[in-house]
Amino acid sequence: MKTIDLVVPCYNEEAGLEHFVLETNKVIDSLPDYSFRYILVNDGSRDKTYLVMKKLAKQFSNIKYICFSRNFGKEAAMYAGLQHTTADYVVVMDADLQHPPEIFPQMIMALENEGYDCCATKRDEREGESKFRGIFSKLFFKLSNKLTDVKNPYGAMDYRMMTRQMVDSILELGEVQRFSKGIFSWVGFNTKWVSFKTVDRQLGTTTWKFSSLFKYALDGITCFSVAPLRFTAVMGGVIFLISLIYILITLIQTLFFGITTPGYVTTLCAVLFLGGITEMSIGILGEYIGRIYMESKDRPIYITKYSNFEEENNEEEDSE
Ligand code: UDP
Ligand code: MG
Repeated sequence: MKTIDLVVPCYNEEAGLEHFVLETNKVIDSLPDYSFRYILVNDGSRDKTYLVMKKLAKQFSNIKYICFSRNFGKEAAMYAGLQHTTADYVVVMDADLQHPPEIFPQMIMALENEGYDCCATKRDEREGESKFRGIFSKLFFKLSNKLTDVKNPYGAMDYRMMTRQMVDSILELGEVQRFSKGIFSWVGFNTKWVSFKTVDRQLGTTTWKFSSLFKYALDGITCFSVAPLRFTAVMGGVIFLISLIYILITLIQTLFFGITTPGYVTTLCAVLFLGGITEMSIGILGEYIGRIYMESKDRPIYITKYSNFEEENNEEEDSE
């Protein structure tokens, strides 16, 4: 019998987690030829997510959980979940039922009969999403596909089923600043893209703010490309050429016509323009140096507080 592990990052999901498991179980029950296991990762939730997980693990023997010592972010939670998988196929999905388990059969089909290593999802319709966020994410997909080796279709999501081999490859990328969509694409393998209409989150609230989305987009580009650095170098070259021509013209003018009116405006423009460009270049450089700095510390991607993977850990749990 083929085994399937479901990796589910959870942050403040006390309201919806049980509903998620019950709904997913309906689909699991309709697939008796496969043995499913949940790997719930509690990413330092501030609510009672942990207690719900513990309760669910008592109720269903196929539920495993890992609790972080604090909020490490969804990327870290996915990594932790993937690290604990052993199954033939692995699914990464959200806990809010925005990723419908109903398409499991379709995903299994792609892996088993159609020769794919991964069946990933993208959303076609972004209903319930603000216009601003829509424009921003479209821009991001365009830019990141242009600048990096990572090629993802617009609306690509983390929700996917992968083969063991692909998961093992993903785990080999041990970088601290993780950008999963990029990593999934970077490791290669054949991916089938399927789409479905997104539904609104039914229980709980989304935790993403615009600032975190901006950081996410920045990660997506800087983690996989040095194009911005190259861009500053090219821009420097172009400005150098232009100023060379300008210097030549000014020199000739001065030689033949003598010093004319003092160039207050041109001086001011040149100083401001170059100052701005220099600042921006230093900023881009700093972004990369910051990343080298964080990566060089080689800190763990997450820290586990409790888990029911080793039963001993379970005994001395206090209630939280
Ligand atoms: N999540 C997480 N850590 C975080 C933020 C979110 O593990 O710091 C989980 C969350 O519980 C959910 C998934 O990541 O299962 C997606 O989060 P959310 O639904 O808030 O994002 P959206 O659907 O708006 O992209
Ligand atoms: Mg969601």
